[in-house]
Amino acid sequence: MKENIKTLVDALVAERNLPDEGLRALIEAESEDAAYLRARGGEVCESVYGKAVYLRGLVEFTNYCKNDCFYCGLRRSNRECERYRLTEEEVLDCAIRGYELGFRTVVLQGGEDGGFSDESVVSVVRKIKESCPDTAVTLSIGERDADKYQAFFDAGADRYLLREETASPEHYSKLHPPELSLERRLDCLYELKRIGFQVGCGFMVGAPYQTTGDIIADLRFMQKFKPHMLGIGPFIPHKSTPFRDFPAGSVEMTLNLLAISRIMLPEVLLPATTALGTASDRGREDGLLAGANVIMPNLSPAPVRSKYLLYDGKLCTGDEAAESVRLMERRIESAGRYVDWGRGDFAGMGENK
Ligand code: SAH
Repeated sequence: MKENIKTLVDALVAERNLPDEGLRALIEAESEDAAYLRARGGEVCESVYGKAVYLRGLVEFTNYCKNDCFYCGLRRSNRECERYRLTEEEVLDCAIRGYELGFRTVVLQGGEDGGFSDESVVSVVRKIKESCPDTAVTLSIGERDADKYQAFFDAGADRYLLREETASPEHYSKLHPPELSLERRLDCLYELKRIGFQVGCGFMVGAPYQTTGDIIADLRFMQKFKPHMLGIGPFIPHKSTPFRDFPAGSVEMTLNLLAISRIMLPEVLLPATTALGTASDRGREDGLLAGANVIMPNLSPAPVRSKYLLYDGKLCTGDEAAESVRLMERRIESAGRYVDWGRGDFAGMGENK
């Protein structure tokens, strides 16, 4: 191992910070350098959360979207995407099924779908909280006005996931059409935090045109914003998007970034994402070893699962299906960890306000 990598990792653990050049070396670390970084990421995770892994049941309730993000298979210009929208009742049924399987967090994710109204979101959140009172409800439905976020919160929603996707304005404009802006995305994130949600931000690794400098911008944003949750996964191309011919992001770099983020934000709730599991068979286990502590199995009704195709090859019927939760539990145990069936709230509640 390069001596300077060990020094850098140790400094990151001690200071929770490094100058840009140090971050660059760690982001790009390989072989035994990367192994050292990830092992330290795993240790920091254990020092905060022990060996616990939290599960979140993911309900992908609509794949209609008014946006046209260049990377995403749900983009409105993708005519090949077979659209679906669950009813409020179906969403509630999924949540209850998840509750019976043992989940105490349900994540409602979808495109920005005007056909599933904000009133319906409010109503379904209320119903879930009535039927499953000790369950945390997480929303991941994109950009809304502040009063809508407030209404979701007042209805009982606890958490909100909204990746910034990239914290570099130039890079943002290469991934999105002109009507979408980083400024608006970040305004939404700050608004969500002000309202009182536990908030998750995040980015893709290896998205087209991304430089290591762009990734450093995401790490700097993360330090400033102090999210409660953080979603990091490799970019994976989708055949019916403008980015179809770009290569997938690096699994190795994604694992390095999980470790770096864990060390910089020891209490953050950090999933080993489905994209990581799709890009590599061992992806999620390796993610847990590098410092991740959350896995999000799929609770969507089986017939629609294969239609929520953010990218090609997205896993949806294997161990990540919520029904196979016992298999997932064994996978987690094979990584030396166990499933904590609690809500899995942010360990530093009261902080990151
Ligand atoms: N509409 C919601 C949910 C988006 S889907 C929102 O705007 O937040 C959740 C995440 O999937 C996105 O934030 C994005 O980072 C990721 N994603 C989309 N397309 C992807 C792709 N091709 N490869 C990897 N991840 C992708």
